[in-house]
Amino acid sequence: MRWSTSSSLVVVLACAVGVPAFAGNTDEKPAPAAQDQHKKPNIKILATGGTIAGAGEAGGHSYTSGQFKIDDLIKAVPGLDKKANLSGEQIANIGSQDMNDQVWLKLAKRCNELLADPSVDGIVITHGTDTMEETAYFLNLTVKGDKPVVLVGSMRPATAISADGPGNLLDAVIVASDPRARGRGVLVASNDTIFSANSLVKTNTTSLDTFDSPNRGPEGLVETDKVHWFEPSEKKASQSEFTIKGRTELPRVDIIYAHANMDATLINAAIAAGAKGIVVAGVGDGNMTKDALDALENAAKHGILVVRSTRLPSGRVLRGAEVNDDKMGFVAAGELNPSKSRVLAQLALTESHDPERVQKMFERY
Ligand code: ASP
Repeated sequence: MRWSTSSSLVVVLACAVGVPAFAGNTDEKPAPAAQDQHKKPNIKILATGGTIAGAGEAGGHSYTSGQFKIDDLIKAVPGLDKKANLSGEQIANIGSQDMNDQVWLKLAKRCNELLADPSVDGIVITHGTDTMEETAYFLNLTVKGDKPVVLVGSMRPATAISADGPGNLLDAVIVASDPRARGRGVLVASNDTIFSANSLVKTNTTSLDTFDSPNRGPEGLVETDKVHWFEPSEKKASQSEFTIKGRTELPRVDIIYAHANMDATLINAAIAAGAKGIVVAGVGDGNMTKDALDALENAAKHGILVVRSTRLPSGRVLRGAEVNDDKMGFVAAGELNPSKSRVLAQLALTESHDPERVQKMFERY
């Protein structure tokens, strides 16, 4: 099957890893690859599925993610081959609601192999939007090197009227081909906007404008085929100590959603299921009932990593505001939402169970 290019919509997640190389608005700086009209960058596209590869009845409401193969996606964007030398690899073909640790590890290992290859200039990853923020953040913490890595998806399947896939894929290739993307960490390019993997969140169930970075704003904009970059973040996720070499699984970390009248039942169930860490999507500034706090203090005493995040869409969870994190042995999530806190807690637990050490990771990454 082929995409209908007139009706397809693509979301692009673009990312780069490594040491921030540029400060301030870098639009005025020359882009070496763009200057050399004869040398096209070599971009590898890794496909994982999602709505960008989804198909349903033409123009209809329902569809199935992960139906089209990577070659179909490339062929659906007219002129894409003029921007870069492209080659594709299918890593998985799933809706990102089914994303799991095994696909994350496979993807991160393949990215590391490709980025070590001098002939590869950048990577684009096609991915569903539901868990894109988690995959992007996982890759930001585990992929080594400063070449661009860009994830892209779409909100409408390839068979929809005004599908956004092809436009987003084009944007992602443009971002991954831009040398100024180097050193900015993993990026997401969606709806002509570029986001950092660290701060990106999905905010709307169906809107094309679903991605946002409520605490920090975007990393840049794609204006037709030019990229306009903003100030890079000081966060250092792409320089983390985490390594996935030889790793076949990650520690179990569960997320529990706080609410009025919360008791300890789900906390105890997570512990019984073998959770090594628990992230609470707390009310307000990461708060929860006394019952929940008592159960989690007890869990922390027994070596379970407890992270207080928030169910609110923006803001930071402050250490020691209404909860005595020092006494209880908790970690305050800062600006990481529950899903990103879970990713960082999984990787942190591969290094340490000490809440003080893990707190420093939450501040740095
Ligand atoms: N459920 C889809 C997925 O995350 C939604 C999308 O891609 O937009 O794979």
